Amino acid sequence: MYVALFSAKSYDKEFFDQFNDSVHQFTYFDAPLNKDTAKLCDGFDAVCVFVNDKMDKKTITLLAQYGIKLIVLRCAGFNNVDLLAAKEQQIKVFRVPAYSPNAIAEHAVALILTLNRKTHKAYNRIRENNFSLKKLTGFNLNGKTIGVIGTGKIGVEFCKIMLGFGCKVLAYDIFENEDLKTRGVVYQTFEEILEVADIISLHCPLTPETQHLIDGEAFKKMKNGVMIINTSRGAVIDTKQAIKALKSGKLGYLGIDVYEQEEHLFFKDLSESIIKDDVIARLMSFPNVLLTAHQGFFTNEALEQIVKITVQNISDFENGKTTDCEVKIS
Ligand code: NAD
Repeated sequence: MYVALFSAKSYDKEFFDQFNDSVHQFTYFDAPLNKDTAKLCDGFDAVCVFVNDKMDKKTITLLAQYGIKLIVLRCAGFNNVDLLAAKEQQIKVFRVPAYSPNAIAEHAVALILTLNRKTHKAYNRIRENNFSLKKLTGFNLNGKTIGVIGTGKIGVEFCKIMLGFGCKVLAYDIFENEDLKTRGVVYQTFEEILEVADIISLHCPLTPETQHLIDGEAFKKMKNGVMIINTSRGAVIDTKQAIKALKSGKLGYLGIDVYEQEEHLFFKDLSESIIKDDVIARLMSFPNVLLTAHQGFFTNEALEQIVKITVQNISDFENGKTTDCEVKIS
């Protein structure tokens, strides 16, 4: 099939080129897919997209007009696709439900350890011959209470790692995982977790129910100095409320790999540009905030899996196969 691959980076080209021509024909576009770039799809059968490509109703209507029959997401989340519009236009949607949950779970742990033990600050200090330990105090993870919101594929791996540190792991999910319970994870209500957790890590998808799940009211219920880690989707946290909580000291540490308005910033080198987003600029000004630009998935193992499954998804669609990777609207 002829596939237009949007938001293409050098690593996408490197990994997808292994299958180019021999299996499917990929054409790379640096631009993100949206209503303004949809015209690039003319003559293609499918589009291959990532987290910040915007497949709203208008874009999908245009895709249908250009003859697109398939949207393949090279990611797990599909909150950026209007599924109803895709169904109306008879465009199928496939994703990569699991490629390496460990990659994201381990990144969440990296954020915790960095924020806590301040290794990023120590690294910079020592390079300037400053061997002082002033303000580098951390805390032991052993014995701390971790609240995990969402115990799907990534949340499960995250729980296992935190149990290994000797933490007390509490979880909230609309479905409970029996295996986790036997390992010692205790399910509680969302509110109960907010009240007792020292660290809260978000691993639920972005849905209408989870949009701004961590809002002003949620912050009020949390322990003073709580650490919040978000590797799920930016809008699960109300960022403006997070800034308020950081200013008051309620929020002691914030580690985020995702951000509400990330599509304007992430995956781009803006080092010579003026950042016009005042919210992220304020976030970056806090010494206890650690931001990474959606790199939780970014390991060799995960990239290999993403490409393999995406290529298989295109072949499955071509052969009329229905698989678990197809995103169906209920
Ligand atoms: P998953 O579908 O396996 O698990 C999600 C879990 O969240 C499920 O157990 C589900 O029951 C639960 N859930 C759904 N709605 C909920 C709610 N309202 N309250 C509490 N729990 C709820 O997904 P996953 O593979 O574990 O991925 C989780 C999220 O991580 C994805 O949706 C995606 O947004 C994000 N993600 C981020 C990266 C990254 O690079 N940072 C990479 C992959 C995925």
